Amino acid sequence: MKDIFDRCKFANLKLNSRIIRTGLWESQREASGNLTPEIYNRYENIAASGVGLIISELYSLYPRDTFSKYSNTIHYTQFVREAKDLTDLVHVYDVPIFAQLGFVQFNKKTEQNMRVEDISIDDIRKIQTDYIIAAQKFDYAGFDGIQIALGNYYFLSRFINPNFNTREDNYGGNTFNRLRMVLEIIKVIKDNTKLHINCRLNAFDGANYGMSLDETIEVAKLLEKYGVDSLQVTRPRSPQFFTRENHDKNPLIDASEKIIKNVNVPVILGGGANSQNQINKLINSTNIDFISMQRPFVADPSFLVDWQIEGNGVVNCKTCNNCYWKKTSTCHINKSPSLNFK
Ligand code: SF4
Repeated sequence: MKDIFDRCKFANLKLNSRIIRTGLWESQREASGNLTPEIYNRYENIAASGVGLIISELYSLYPRDTFSKYSNTIHYTQFVREAKDLTDLVHVYDVPIFAQLGFVQFNKKTEQNMRVEDISIDDIRKIQTDYIIAAQKFDYAGFDGIQIALGNYYFLSRFINPNFNTREDNYGGNTFNRLRMVLEIIKVIKDNTKLHINCRLNAFDGANYGMSLDETIEVAKLLEKYGVDSLQVTRPRSPQFFTRENHDKNPLIDASEKIIKNVNVPVILGGGANSQNQINKLINSTNIDFISMQRPFVADPSFLVDWQIEGNGVVNCKTCNNCYWKKTSTCHINKSPSLNFK
């Protein structure tokens, strides 16, 4: 019988539980980019709680991207030193930590929010180079892995999606061509860093001419073939819309099961879980082994402590989405002294 708090293998890593904390875009960083004591405090609380793996809040690849006003950045001089302090702190609790990296819009001087078909080969090389430089910084800073944002509506999710990518060169057309830019990034990161590579991708998008589950499975197999170590399944719209009690209505479960059957790397189910019993039921009735949670950690970074001690835990998050829409990603219902910011 599987249990949330099983110690288990996750590719090359050992986890203290099956719960993966994935960050939103909150940071509460200083305007300069520097990390505040509250951030270190939050990470220590999460790491000490019994979580299996921490995936950071979004690191915006580009300073003027949609969420960069709120999200962490690598674009300041003390990034590696400060991030190394953060990863060292998390590692004290034997918890691995990945850096989540993505961008929503590609902007070039006066050309803002460029369409996939308008991106030149030079632009592709720039994006690839920026990804690789960021990965090297994460490696120096002691992160165990990187999560490449291929899901939701991040730019690369649109690049691999036939609904957005109508290019007629080697970076458009069939599935492999649309994935080529990502596969080239993965190869260089693999060859030059020690990082575990995780890709977060949409199971489907529901749009006409968009990604179907069958194509996502093909993408997942290609990612595995070219060196990706694990996957996280999400969808374009946030899992905030899942029902609280009836997990059978979460369409990602069925999709995740199908993806898991087709790859050998670990696959994380992204979101929608709200109670200890629900998760234990899910992992024992499906082939799903790892569950990602986001907002419950915003509501209470230490909630897993109570779950371990008392059992029958239920998350404090009311799924009101104030932390989501307001983009600061602090909880407006469950206020903690350590999480109040100016
Ligand atoms: S603000 Fe709402 S959605 Fe966000 S963590 Fe708090 S209760 Fe959950």
